[in-house]
Amino acid sequence: MIFGGISLEKLAIKGGYPIRGSKIYYGRQWIDESDIEAVADVLRSDFITCGPKVDEFESELSAYTAAKYAVAVSNGTAALHCACMAAGIGPGDEVITTSLTFAASANCVLYCGAKPIFADIDPDTYNIDPESIRAHITPKTKAVVAVDFTGQAVKHKEIRALCDEFHLIFIEDAAHAIATKYDGKPIGSLADMTCFSFHPVKTITGGEGGAVTTNSEEYYKKLMLVRTHGITHDEGEMESAPHEGPWYYEQIMLGYNYRLTDFQAALITSQMKKLDKFAARRKEITKAYNEAFAKIPEIILQKEIPESDTCRHLYIIRLDLDKLACTRREFFDALAAENIQCQIHYVPVYWFPYYQHLDYPKGLCPNAERIYQGIMSVPLYPRMSNIDTKDVIAAVTKVVAYYKNNK
Ligand SMILES: *Cc1c(COP(=O)(O)O)cnc(C)c1O
Repeated sequence: MIFGGISLEKLAIKGGYPIRGSKIYYGRQWIDESDIEAVADVLRSDFITCGPKVDEFESELSAYTAAKYAVAVSNGTAALHCACMAAGIGPGDEVITTSLTFAASANCVLYCGAKPIFADIDPDTYNIDPESIRAHITPKTKAVVAVDFTGQAVKHKEIRALCDEFHLIFIEDAAHAIATKYDGKPIGSLADMTCFSFHPVKTITGGEGGAVTTNSEEYYKKLMLVRTHGITHDEGEMESAPHEGPWYYEQIMLGYNYRLTDFQAALITSQMKKLDKFAARRKEITKAYNEAFAKIPEIILQKEIPESDTCRHLYIIRLDLDKLACTRREFFDALAAENIQCQIHYVPVYWFPYYQHLDYPKGLCPNAERIYQGIMSVPLYPRMSNIDTKDVIAAVTKVVAYYKNNK
């Protein structure tokens, strides 16, 4: 096809050649030999769970995040559940969270028998809008679960002010945001409790894994209890001390088994040694994308607040569908045919049937619903080469050119 003398490459989905021969995905882990050795060492040792590697990981994480305490747990969802339990969230409480997030950010509230309330997002940053939090506060509101969406820090100053004014507990879902800083301070040291995930698509991984960081001794003690069945070995915490002997422990609340194994802890600790390198590479790729996509008027870029020094977990392009003669689905499929496999983050949580059955009306968060229609996460992970990055840019440019000119 020729448009104004410019020959357009035929899209792979229309029978043309793809931009690249092999598929790349929106995210993937980077495990090297030192990680494998770290895990193997644990497997050869005496302790494969509840051992020294968990303690070591916790002290590394608290040092990295500048938080007083870190509690390792089995995954990010468990971290959120533990944080909600430690916050004392229960039946009759409301907890405000964002509408554009992974389901776990809201499910943790339901686990506690409380009600998630969905605040809308800021249409520029896609993060929870503090004004929308304010609008949803009632006498039942107990906490806020704010998500650093794509890795960008939420507006800590504004959310902290609201939490202080209304005596709310500030829980941060930082599954995307390890290595991000807000106002020069690392994520993990700012909210009352901060939850991390170490799933393989996240910035560093343990296969599965999670953690909660906090500066509060009170929350720390509760988190430790929730992680292990509500059982304590600390005489000071027991109800019927003096105890009967060295074997004695007490269950003083209903907790869970949310422990992390030592080999996972060793893997995450080994990955942490590379975290700054991974973060730098993510920033490099993000910069290349920003520069390239800023030149494409059909693509709207996620905006950043100046306080956030962001280690991007996800890179989202938003299609300006008014300027394109295609649907988001057609664009997504066209990129997949070029061997660029994107993903959508996320369907607004309350759109899922489970939440629909709980009576959350559609139209609840208009910004989230509108922005959801046009977004797509393109590949972003530290192991991507410069050629991979160029391929993504070339494929997006190619698909935009095709649908723009066919209008
Ligand atoms: C990944 C993720 C979680 C859950 O983490 P898991 O380790 O998979 O349980 C929670 N919240 C957000 C925003 C996430 O992206």
